[in-house]
Amino acid sequence: MSDMPAHEVHAIAHQSLAIGGPAEVGFDKQSLPYVPGSTLRGALASVWIREHGKPTPGNPHREEFIELFERSVQFGPLLQEGTELVPLSAVFCKYPRTAECANWSIDAAVDPGAHLCPHCGHGTETGKGQLQGVRVQRTLRARLDVRGVPIDGHLFARHELERGLAYRGRLVGHHPWLAHERTIWLGGKTSTNGRTTIRIDPASVQVPAAPSRRPDGALVVRFTGPAVIVDDAGRPTLDPVDEIARVLGLDRSSVEDRGAWIRPDRVGGWHLASGLPKPAEIAIAQGSVVALHLQDEPDPARLRRLAVEGLGLRRTEGFGTVEVNPPPWRKAPPAAPVAPVRHPSVLDPLRERDLLDSEETLRWLLDRTRRVAVERVRNPRFSVEELFQERIPLLFDDAQTAAVWDLFTSDRPATAVPMLERELDLLTADREDPT
Ligand SMILES: [Zn+2]
Repeated sequence: MSDMPAHEVHAIAHQSLAIGGPAEVGFDKQSLPYVPGSTLRGALASVWIREHGKPTPGNPHREEFIELFERSVQFGPLLQEGTELVPLSAVFCKYPRTAECANWSIDAAVDPGAHLCPHCGHGTETGKGQLQGVRVQRTLRARLDVRGVPIDGHLFARHELERGLAYRGRLVGHHPWLAHERTIWLGGKTSTNGRTTIRIDPASVQVPAAPSRRPDGALVVRFTGPAVIVDDAGRPTLDPVDEIARVLGLDRSSVEDRGAWIRPDRVGGWHLASGLPKPAEIAIAQGSVVALHLQDEPDPARLRRLAVEGLGLRRTEGFGTVEVNPPPWRKAPPAAPVAPVRHPSVLDPLRERDLLDSEETLRWLLDRTRRVAVERVRNPRFSVEELFQERIPLLFDDAQTAAVWDLFTSDRPATAVPMLERELDLLTADREDPT
């Protein structure tokens, strides 16, 4: 078995992303804070299916599909640029009282442990495997009927990953089909969410398998995504030590556990070729860490393979990505706010509030903006309220309502009409499906 090359994945989300996590009911829906490898793989597989049809037996391209999505490529998770995984081994002051408290942190997998904050003497908090610095927005989504009235039961708030942001990930393996930049839909293809362009660097990258950072030379393995690991009997296990010893070609008795920070998770998934759901499995959660003392020096090539190809089952789906001897986790200084890119346009306030993403909303806006523009010519002193039957605040959230109101009560509707027409053209052309 030869080493698989690793490639950087670059993605730009043009729309906000609603990435499915555990099924949720109710008014407030959450998105996962990142794009799992399985989601990326599914999105690329959908594009392939649009190009070549379903990969059923008899499809002449079926073998390519299986090669790409079930066999030779591992799709790692995509993280929003600027976000950081807080491993379970992270330790920091629970209630910082001073700047020293706020800045203090250790990584228990590398540094000597601390149960109390050395600056205030009070309790500590540990990492939960969460992602820090993720930019989300809460959006009120409504399905509108042709009259611009929300359809009953179709009004809901959703936390989505902000639009316009860059994502990075890693893909292991190679296939010519992946050489082209592509438009994909992450989290399902809808008119308002998910449109992303994705590019895979043709040049492979070196994945570091750094030397140990501990005084005792122990190996630290950090799980950067969930990992599905089974024991000899094929049962899921939360203890990865046997598997790590096996991958490194070491005798299990020569590997000593020097600490584990592990939390369980449940993962599902889809069998892409058949379109059937996979049963949920127990996994080692993202952010888990293990430290191992190795009696025998591992083969550097095997160590590198562990860093590149990861651990456990279902790695083609993006499970089991790890870092080998990563830099110890340190609490990041508070992030400076990022200034949004400005293109001055009448439609900017609408675009920023996701009002140009859905065909229904765009048609509604275009129709009402036309009415306001016409009315303004007829009677400059007319009142916008008289013009509409519906109450605008019921259709949109506060920020959206303010943006719509600003447009209607300004002198810009006449300018906005042709621009909205162009947006609608773009959106509908965008959504044309070749099938
Ligand atoms: Zn403190």
